[in-house]
Amino acid sequence: MHDPPQLLREADWLIEIGPGSGTEGGTVLATGDVTTLGKDPHSLIGGFRTGREPVLVRQRADRDTMFDQGRIRGLTAADFSCNTGSLRCPRCEGTGQVSLDVRFLPHVDIACPACDGTRYAPEAAGILRPTPTNPDDGMSLPDLLALTARQAIEQVGDIRRAEPSFPTGPA
Ligand SMILES: [Zn+2]
Repeated sequence: MHDPPQLLREADWLIEIGPGSGTEGGTVLATGDVTTLGKDPHSLIGGFRTGREPVLVRQRADRDTMFDQGRIRGLTAADFSCNTGSLRCPRCEGTGQVSLDVRFLPHVDIACPACDGTRYAPEAAGILRPTPTNPDDGMSLPDLLALTARQAIEQVGDIRRAEPSFPTGPA
């Protein structure tokens, strides 16, 4: 099932952990079915479903409308793909992880030491886009992708394609 709204509707019980990713996560925000979450002011999922929270779909925001500096260097949107683009990390081939082959032990996956798990080659960090809160210095795509959705919308809210595109409405 690849349709998140359908998954939420059909789940018997949801445990929402957040409020952000990485170090901003780890707290149970709300539990229940999607209707319960929609009424719970602590739930971000409920907020997204009801339109209370802005939603940013990062993959749509990250490439062709963002990097004028990239265009100057002759790069296209395809170059910013971490799967197949020229800016992907050559060591991990854009996966962000490498597998350690330790003798007599199972393989261990760790964050790629070349890109620190960002999935991009070092050149990507040098391509900056001015953002509303960083108008002079700008931010790189790897830096933007490390942000939570809430942090990222402050940086790319000026891009039309970053407007909320997650289906919202009554649960
Ligand atoms: Zn890498």
